[in-house]
Amino acid sequence: MLEKYKQKRNFTSTPEPSGDLKLAADRAKTAKPGQGLFFCVQKHLASHLHYDLRLEHEGVLLSWAVPKGPSLDPKTKRLAMHVEDHPIEYGTFEGVIPSGYGAGIVMLWDRGTWRPESEDVAAALKKGDLKFTLDGFKLKGSWVLVRTGGRWGSKSAAGDARSWLLIKHKDEWAGEIDITEFAPKSVTSEGGFEDILAADKPDVWESNRPAKGGEAGAMLATIIERAALLKAGKKPAASGGRAPRARKKADKSTKPLKRKRSSS
Ligand code: MN
Repeated sequence: MLEKYKQKRNFTSTPEPSGDLKLAADRAKTAKPGQGLFFCVQKHLASHLHYDLRLEHEGVLLSWAVPKGPSLDPKTKRLAMHVEDHPIEYGTFEGVIPSGYGAGIVMLWDRGTWRPESEDVAAALKKGDLKFTLDGFKLKGSWVLVRTGGRWGSKSAAGDARSWLLIKHKDEWAGEIDITEFAPKSVTSEGGFEDILAADKPDVWESNRPAKGGEAGAMLATIIERAALLKAGKKPAASGGRAPRARKKADKSTKPLKRKRSSS
């Protein structure tokens, strides 16, 4: 279950959890799907910015990398690449991966509980159609993950079995608001990537940045600059984001969203 996770990482050089197999086994035994299982979304600025959706299942976190992040609009289907299972203790990880696989900054963007909408999760996964309900701070209501298996939106003729789509079902939690723009910050620290980096070592990538070119590279360059200023005790000018001052007020992004009044 965690073999791939462990193979990809060198735990002497990454702060990520190494994956405790006993913890996974215990968790698998004690978890009660009917009462809600753990879920989280980690915003991950690596070679590209993406959002990792993780759902607890049998003691580990099933994981999908969603390049554009979740959309609350049922009409907007988001590509979700099925990636290796992660350890349950990864679900609270937030920090800087200085080098190697996934090098970059990980922010805990949302967390809460999920409930499968069908009894047999293993069967739903095998079928490639997993319906579920989320109860997080930012994401709520009914969703589905559908495997496209290359029949849809894949570059190669054979298709990539890892390709799924993440789609919001129509319910009172659906809407046109762009949740990644509306609530961009950490659900725990309330900070942005620059705050996470400033708390670590802003100069960590002096020689070898995880992203140099493109959008992710430009974003990372700005974040490194802002983190250095934060570390030096200076307030970075608000550029694209909010000034640090605004962060002292309760951040709307970390409060559970209010249920929409059903007016129609
Ligand atoms: Mn990732």
